[in-house]
Amino acid sequence: MNRTASPHAVAPWIADQTQALLAQRGHAWLLAGPSGLGQYDLAMALARAWLCDHPRQQGACGQCSSCHAIEVHAHADLCVLMPETVLLELGWPLNEKAQDDIDSKKRKPSKEIRVESMRDAVEFAQRTSARGHGKVVLVFPAERMNVYTANALLKTLEEPAGDVKFVLATDAAHQLLPTIRSRCLGHTMTWPNQANAQAWLHSQGVAPAQAELMLRAAGGRPQAALQFAPVCDSWRHLPKAVARGDTSIFKDWAPAQVVDALQKLCHDTMALKAGAKPRFFESNDLPMSGSWQSLSAWAKALSASQRTVEHPFNTGLMHEALVSQAQLALNLKP
Ligand SMILES: [Zn+2]
Repeated sequence: MNRTASPHAVAPWIADQTQALLAQRGHAWLLAGPSGLGQYDLAMALARAWLCDHPRQQGACGQCSSCHAIEVHAHADLCVLMPETVLLELGWPLNEKAQDDIDSKKRKPSKEIRVESMRDAVEFAQRTSARGHGKVVLVFPAERMNVYTANALLKTLEEPAGDVKFVLATDAAHQLLPTIRSRCLGHTMTWPNQANAQAWLHSQGVAPAQAELMLRAAGGRPQAALQFAPVCDSWRHLPKAVARGDTSIFKDWAPAQVVDALQKLCHDTMALKAGAKPRFFESNDLPMSGSWQSLSAWAKALSASQRTVEHPFNTGLMHEALVSQAQLALNLKP
């Protein structure tokens, strides 16, 4: 998955939003919306434009030494605040101490934004800029700040050192401290239209027929759709396989993906039953059964599983349990 997009590869709906946000004043933006719409890419596009030597109305030039420094993830005036797991996934360097600790297996990469890195960021915000175009602090995903980290950021947001801009990106804005939300200008990510989303997936090497299916599976969110490439072929068969109690369809799936797929199946089965259009599957592919009671009990059980799914005692058993629960709900005659 290519998420370290170069300026030339920015998706059209991200480019439109970049231009719109650059036209407004604001030293702290909070980019929010469901995951998979490109929060990180938009945050990067803003940072690039703010720090660029020759910024244009549309954003960064993509050619100057500042743009190049961001491209190689080594810009002295850009501080990225991310959990270590996300830094590693997106190819950003860790600080020396953290890298040493992880290399020597003292601890695992953190899934939260650590208070130590927030302290570095606060110091960074107080330094003078190295290249003369101000500085940028980028926080992603912002909901991974714990209460201590968030409070440290809040202080800097309240008393910005003049030439520092902030961009926070999140898919769970409700989990942020209200005081953080109120210190930022909010921007809700816009959804691309179907044609744009498909064209973008095509530019990422996805065949048109698959792009449609992957977008459907991801509920229309293009970046999330990329994650469905490996399961694209089996997606259509999933509802009926589950109703039959066939667990082999989930071979090699992580439990979290199974729960996500079953939640979508449950949602669509209920939608179809209510006479609405299903969102993630084709109507023809869905089983026409289950009672309201069995389906809503299933939905409830799935939300409970979602909270504990990261630590399954045994993946195989977990899949079996999830599928037989689904089978029970789906096959119950009204
Ligand atoms: Zn530039």
